[in-house]
Amino acid sequence: MSAVKTILPPAVIGIIGGGQLGRMMALAAKAMGYRIASLDPQPGCPCAQIADIEIIGDYGDSSAIESLARASDVITYEFENINADALQWLEKNAHLPQGSLALKASQSRLAEKAAVARLGAPVPRHLRISGAEDLEKKVFFPSILKTDSGGYDGKGQAALKTPADLPAALDLARGAECVLEEWVPFDKEISVIVARAQDGKTAAFPVAENIHENGILRRTIAPARISESLGARAVECAERIAAGLEVVGILAVEMFVIGNDFFINEIAPRPHNSGHFTMDACATGQFEQHVRAVCALPLGDPSRLAPAVMANILGEHLSRGLEPFLPLLGRGKLHLYGKAEARRGRKMGHLNMLCDGGHTIDDAMRSLDESGIWN
Ligand code: AMP
Repeated sequence: MSAVKTILPPAVIGIIGGGQLGRMMALAAKAMGYRIASLDPQPGCPCAQIADIEIIGDYGDSSAIESLARASDVITYEFENINADALQWLEKNAHLPQGSLALKASQSRLAEKAAVARLGAPVPRHLRISGAEDLEKKVFFPSILKTDSGGYDGKGQAALKTPADLPAALDLARGAECVLEEWVPFDKEISVIVARAQDGKTAAFPVAENIHENGILRRTIAPARISESLGARAVECAERIAAGLEVVGILAVEMFVIGNDFFINEIAPRPHNSGHFTMDACATGQFEQHVRAVCALPLGDPSRLAPAVMANILGEHLSRGLEPFLPLLGRGKLHLYGKAEARRGRKMGHLNMLCDGGHTIDDAMRSLDESGIWN
């Protein structure tokens, strides 16, 4: 890991990956007086719209990576699939306090499960699957097959509820190295968003409860409706993973809850969609906290100002434009990512509904449902 070096504004923070996470990191950093260099293959990407310096190039393109390093005092990433050569180069030649252990683990589901299990965190029973024949030999039901790398938002997955689901799973196994996981009949999905500073201090946000449909996050409810003791154990586990993988910045740990137990589903060593509620509902938002950690400033107070519900806005939710959102804006804080094309399933923005002054989580959920936007 790079030596601790405090980076003060108006230094330049280089961000690898110019999607909404990069944009929201940039917005938080700009509010603090930093300047931003953005690296992304797509001209005018969400982060570049905010950045001072736009570098257009592939994440694996060594000259683009070198340009970013030359332009920046510190580098961070929002994108997980940075290739090994680029990462090695950055570690030697640039200031990358965020580290690479958790990043490398998060690039492979098998490596990730091994890494968190080594740190004593519970993971669902799973097997490595190398090809269709291997799947035919090892398959069990109910289970879920996932590609080892490259999957996101439910892509690269095949549920195996019954043998009738096998053909689709065999197709997936034919194309890529996979992991076959037991199907977890969870009561709830939660995530712990924790920040870790360069001196090893950690600060966890309130545990969040997540509702997914077709593998895409739809809503986050914070605080999660779980017992205090389960929440405390989940936070302790996430902090142990962050320390064990030497994370600096935000680590998101997604978990399945069954009864009074939890299993780790996934980790992401960067700000996370299920932490977007913190932007309006906590004393310090996850993007500001991430910037503080990579720049070696003291971490901010993560405590909750109000309960909140976050609703993701996907392409299809904008089919009637923004008018239908207006009645929600009394309690709702709208965040849009500057993406021109509203494709189905594409994350275009999110709405944080704050629940204070006698307004409850149930009231917020009802307002969202009754708006008709998400039906
Ligand atoms: P992932 O890409 O691994 O986060 O999976 C996306 C979503 O699929 C999760 O948030 C769950 O809703 C569901 N899912 C994934 N793995 C499992 C599992 N082992 N058992 C039950 N549901 C799962």
